[in-house]
Amino acid sequence: MLINHVQQLIGNTPLIDLPVTVPNGSHIYAKLEMFNPGGSIKDRLGAYLVQDGIQRGHINNTTTIIEPTAGNTGIGLALATQAHDLRTILVVPEKFSMEKQVLMQALGAEIVHTPSEQGIKGAIKKAEQLAQEIPNSYVPMQFKNPANPAAYYHSLAPEIIADLSQPITAFVAGAGSGGTFAGIAAYLQEQDAATKAIVVEPAGSILNGGPAHAHRTEGIGVEFIPPFFEHLRIDQTLTISDNDAFAQVRQLARHHGLFVGSSSGAALAASLQLAATLPANSTIVTVFPDSSERYLSQNIYSN
Ligand code: PMP
Repeated sequence: MLINHVQQLIGNTPLIDLPVTVPNGSHIYAKLEMFNPGGSIKDRLGAYLVQDGIQRGHINNTTTIIEPTAGNTGIGLALATQAHDLRTILVVPEKFSMEKQVLMQALGAEIVHTPSEQGIKGAIKKAEQLAQEIPNSYVPMQFKNPANPAAYYHSLAPEIIADLSQPITAFVAGAGSGGTFAGIAAYLQEQDAATKAIVVEPAGSILNGGPAHAHRTEGIGVEFIPPFFEHLRIDQTLTISDNDAFAQVRQLARHHGLFVGSSSGAALAASLQLAATLPANSTIVTVFPDSSERYLSQNIYSN
């Protein structure tokens, strides 16, 4: 395969029929998004947000891009803005993985930290404040920009349909901004209304009505209901403990040679739980957003 820019490596990731033992003879298929060049599912979003901002006239060749992010969107955006030589400021709550922040800076982005206890809401507020101060700046704002679910509706979702010939019983994915889940669920339900859409959150996230608290599972969990969920049919919300998510992270490395982050562990734990409730021989599709290698400093493999 001959290429001339890493951007060409975004998307068309493998879909693995996981060799794990699944209840009821069902199969779990996982989209391996760590194979994107920036190492996560958010490369798709970064490229799409920049293209969308240019097309809508929000971005010209002197625009400063500002975005609140847990990290992977920052890396995806920095990859995309680098190709256009645009100054990029990423507002990141301090708690998020050091590896992600080092990578964002390596790509040329500047980082502004906000206090961990203010969560993503603190980062959103700071990004909006910076945008007021910096002339010709643009905040794509993944948390409410419809281009976020659209990025997945137009790229990842059709890849799933192209790779599978059988009907999909259920689609399972975690939610941070909710863009991944909303974009793919909407597309799959348009193809087949019988496909169930199951959203995954860590304990400490508020979708199931539980109390908000800190969690170790990184990249998913919400502090407010994503606006993208408003017109979406969500069949079930599964809340997964940090312990269950990290147990699957260890299993996948130890037995199947797969390095995945904790949001992937939560997605697998939820898929297995769901499989036990579905008819025999069901097809479950999920998404593994990134690799464990960006969480080694957080001792992702320690029990
Ligand atoms: N997993 C990881 C590792 C992530 O970085 C993100 C994005 N924050 C997600 C899952 C959730 O994706 P989304 O924001 O599209 O809900």
